[in-house]
Amino acid sequence: MVGGGIAGCAACLALAKRGVKAIWIAPEDTSASKPGESLAAAARALLDDLGLAHVLDDPAHRRSQLSFTSWGSDALLERHAAAQPGGMGHVLNRRHFEAALLAQTRLSPDIVRLDDTLREAERTATGWHLTTGGGQTIGARLVIDATGRRAMIGRREARPRRLDHLVAAVSFLRQSAPDIDPTRATLTEAVAGGWWYATLLADRRLAINFYSDPDLLPRRIGQRLDLWQHMVRDTRYIWRWLESAGYEPSEPPQLATAGTVWLETAAGSDWLAAGDAAISFDPLSAHGMTTALWTGIQAAQAAALTLDGDASALAGYAARLRAGVERFAHERRNIYSREMRFAHHPFWRRRQTEHPE
Ligand SMILES: Cc1cc2nc3c(=O)[nH]c(=O)nc-3n(C[C@H](O)[C@H](O)[C@H](O)COP(=O)(O)OP(=O)(O)OC[C@H]3O[C@@H](n4cnc5c(N)ncnc54)[C@H](O)[C@@H]3O)c2cc1C
Repeated sequence: MVGGGIAGCAACLALAKRGVKAIWIAPEDTSASKPGESLAAAARALLDDLGLAHVLDDPAHRRSQLSFTSWGSDALLERHAAAQPGGMGHVLNRRHFEAALLAQTRLSPDIVRLDDTLREAERTATGWHLTTGGGQTIGARLVIDATGRRAMIGRREARPRRLDHLVAAVSFLRQSAPDIDPTRATLTEAVAGGWWYATLLADRRLAINFYSDPDLLPRRIGQRLDLWQHMVRDTRYIWRWLESAGYEPSEPPQLATAGTVWLETAAGSDWLAAGDAAISFDPLSAHGMTTALWTGIQAAQAAALTLDGDASALAGYAARLRAGVERFAHERRNIYSREMRFAHHPFWRRRQTEHPE
């Protein structure tokens, strides 16, 4: 197993549940914050399956009850969790969530974690010879690649396909007027050059993300607070919400890759990719973390069956992920095609006429 994000944790826990011993190369994540807070309602059943349902009771997360959307029209559409078939999921404190998953993996004697990175992977007659950044060497019959968008093994074994080059500008804002009670909601707003997403976290920080293409973002936006503030103020609803509740960016945004990329196949005869390493879709559908949990569990099942002699398990896994890619692509196309106000703008035109690279 390689990679210590959500997919890696899910795969390790699912392997341990089946009594399979795993060596896990997973460096400690020391970054200050990680974008991605909206956990879809469907994730609860997957967490249950891993014995992790309690993780969502942490007061660092909040239930997602209310969302507002301005997409395809100037009006603001309001939706309540009670009206959604599966509920509306949770808004996470991402650090707490990943730390809780990691804590659960520590309880299993079958998981041996190396706080290290994978540096090299070579094939041998019996499987893989892995070398870590710290110089350790490991032999393995099968490798699960859960290294996120880098897809350390997957990208050398299978062709990556890409639909777009979406990039996210991300900020976490603190409230300057703590006497105002901010609305506990999520807001998505389409604009000519892309779309905005904002959500209130349980600790009252407000996460705001702007999604666009690299060539459409202002130059040096990652260093220019003035430009970032200007962009925020130029929105219709996002700015109204921020201003009324006492929020404003005080630092330039961080930039993160958020494009839609997947591997042509997510498994070979001795490897599998899970999570973003296999399928990274743009965060519009807010299913990245749920997909990471699902593919982690599915990859572990396929790996366990393969080690037991099932010759078709890896191909079955790859086929399930291929079907998932088709579903995501279809859903994504539908959502983007609902916004016709800016159809002449490159950001929207590209998404209405695109073909995989
Ligand atoms: C801006 C943005 C907003 C998003 N918002 C949402 C959202 O609201 N809801 C949602 O569900 N999803 C969202 N996503 C997507 C979600 O964050 C990802 O789908 C999810 O993190 C995938 O988990 P993962 O475990 O596959 O990969 P990652 O979280 O990327 O984890 C990969 C791990 O592999 C490790 N690694 C990398 N290289 C090596 C190596 N050589 N050796 C060992 N380890 C290595 C890394 O350190 C990391 O810990 C968002 C993504 C972005 C970019």
